[in-house]
Amino acid sequence: MLLWEIDRPLVELTSLYGFERAARAYRASLAAVSGLVSLARDHNLLGEIRTKNSLYLAAGSSAADLLDEHRLRQRAGLPGDFLDHGRLLESYQIARAGAIVSSGAADADPLQLARGLLRLATMRGARLFDAEAIAFDPEGEAVTVGFEDGREITAKAVVLATGYVMPGIVHSKLQTVSSSWAIATTPQPQNIWKDGVLIWEDAKDYLYARTTPAGRIIIGGEDSEETIAPDARDRLIPEKSRQLVKRLAALWPSAETEVEHRWAGTFDTTSDGLPLIGPVPGAKGVYAAYGYGGNGITFSYLAAQLIGDLIAGGTSPLLDDFALDRDSGMAGH
Ligand SMILES: Cc1cc2nc3c(=O)[nH]c(=O)nc-3n(C[C@H](O)[C@H](O)[C@H](O)COP(=O)(O)OP(=O)(O)OC[C@H]3O[C@@H](n4cnc5c(N)ncnc54)[C@H](O)[C@@H]3O)c2cc1C
Repeated sequence: MLLWEIDRPLVELTSLYGFERAARAYRASLAAVSGLVSLARDHNLLGEIRTKNSLYLAAGSSAADLLDEHRLRQRAGLPGDFLDHGRLLESYQIARAGAIVSSGAADADPLQLARGLLRLATMRGARLFDAEAIAFDPEGEAVTVGFEDGREITAKAVVLATGYVMPGIVHSKLQTVSSSWAIATTPQPQNIWKDGVLIWEDAKDYLYARTTPAGRIIIGGEDSEETIAPDARDRLIPEKSRQLVKRLAALWPSAETEVEHRWAGTFDTTSDGLPLIGPVPGAKGVYAAYGYGGNGITFSYLAAQLIGDLIAGGTSPLLDDFALDRDSGMAGH
């Protein structure tokens, strides 16, 4: 799901950082999805990416918070319409208190998209090495990275993008890791909700659902910050799958709930919902791209733009907003 909507609602982000800064993050996220779609279109990777609307559902019995969120998004110039219970039921046959439906999202097979982008990068001169980086030395004129197999790479700029495992030279008080579980049903193209919109909810550990071109339903969530070790996480797959099946049946009663694939993964999140993008403090020439939360692929595009521009001599206020050592004084509330 390539959502531009950030894990933390605009209303909450505004109460943490003020409207201008919160709106700037949301607008940058919207532009990132559209940039990624354009990149795919310009390089014939469009088979791997589909533009979509998103449907952000009320999780509880009231849609009052969503209406506030919608109004603030409108003020920020973001796309979207508010649907009350009746309009939501009529348009999407989904029985929730309300929803915001927004344009500007997309979906993709992440593996195919990643492969396509790596092909593009290698065609442009990137070289790929499969090795584990274990040491970073930023003391000299350039940065030296040492690998487990004994090799070293020296470069003027090093960008760390190692997912939820941050090397020891990167520190952030904001980052935590979380596991997540997902299932994919058998194909049921006759059974898909309107337009195959991307569905997610106004809740901290939200449920999300999308469809595939073959008509499978993928639904995920059930996140946990306690079960991180891969073995323990994977042992929970059967139980979490059963929960997800129940939640699918509640969300979309006409779905066939025969599950063909089930899996789990771990990702990193931040307490304020914004990514960690920019220079690594105290390590000259080293840049970091972490803390993506549920917006991993959207924020990775943003990180590539911001860090690329920074290395080329540019700057952006977003680099203060996403700084690894930003003031998170209020971010815990
Ligand atoms: C179940 C699940 C569903 C998700 N759904 C979505 C979604 O719908 N939309 C979305 O946008 N995001 C989603 N995310 C989040 C998204 O997957 C991540 O944010 C994204 O993959 C992060 O990309 P990345 O390239 O930074 O890190 P990763 O994809 O984690 O890749 C990091 C790579 O670095 C390698 N690495 C780590 N340490 C080292 C080292 N020392 N040396 C060399 N290599 C190293 C790792 O092996 C890995 O290959 C989901 C996550 C999970 C777990």
